[in-house]
Amino acid sequence: MRPLIAGNWKMNGDWRSARDLAEALRAAAPGLDAALLVCPPFLHVQPVAAALLGSPVAVGGQDCHARNSGAHTGDIAAPMLRDAGATHVILGHSERRADHAESSAQVRAKTEAALAAGLTPVVCVGETEAERLAGEHEAVVGRQLEESLPLGFITSGGIVAYEPVWAIGTGRTPTEDDIAAMHRFMRHALVNSWGPTAQITRLLYGGSVKPSNAAAILALPDVDGALVGGASLVAADFLAIARAVPQE
Ligand code: PEP
Repeated sequence: MRPLIAGNWKMNGDWRSARDLAEALRAAAPGLDAALLVCPPFLHVQPVAAALLGSPVAVGGQDCHARNSGAHTGDIAAPMLRDAGATHVILGHSERRADHAESSAQVRAKTEAALAAGLTPVVCVGETEAERLAGEHEAVVGRQLEESLPLGFITSGGIVAYEPVWAIGTGRTPTEDDIAAMHRFMRHALVNSWGPTAQITRLLYGGSVKPSNAAAILALPDVDGALVGGASLVAADFLAIARAVPQE
């Protein structure tokens, strides 16, 4: 499976920086072994998608509403993302679970909406530091997978991102053994619940991935790519991560 390197730009940048990033990725993407996805803030989804039209770089949103329309001030519906040129959407990021008190049930409803709109969901799961220290990380992630993924997720090519909350934006990462163990656990959990099709579900690792640690992380079994926050805002760093994918 071609590894996927996904950039989560979060609430950063302006149109000029988004355009510059998109242009740098557009120029480099054809020579890469990795598939690329960028997820700009909502306002920049459409112009970034236009700037990347015809290039292999995919564009995604960072969230969507569970409904297709209605009285939901400030929200964005999945069909609107699709209409703006997005093909993917990140759902259940820990910052949304924390900042907006999103439950796994809500993440599941949003994921259903994304699938219905023809978007590929990238559903994030991951434990807090307290949960890892208490040895509850597998139970927490197992429960999030069970509660967040709707019917059709696996067969539609949905993507799961393991993002330990304590590793996001902190410069800290789990050990390679711990990342590999969690990805093995997730693979088994998905195959147990959804059957053998889940053998090819893409499992991304996210949390302080940077050029210096990317090669080691991306070489781990059952790590099919990375979800990158901070380092995705610097084209050279994001491309260095993409170039660190293992050679087939
Ligand atoms: C993220 O927020 O999805 C993320 C992985 O952030 P960072 O790479 O900055 O830790």
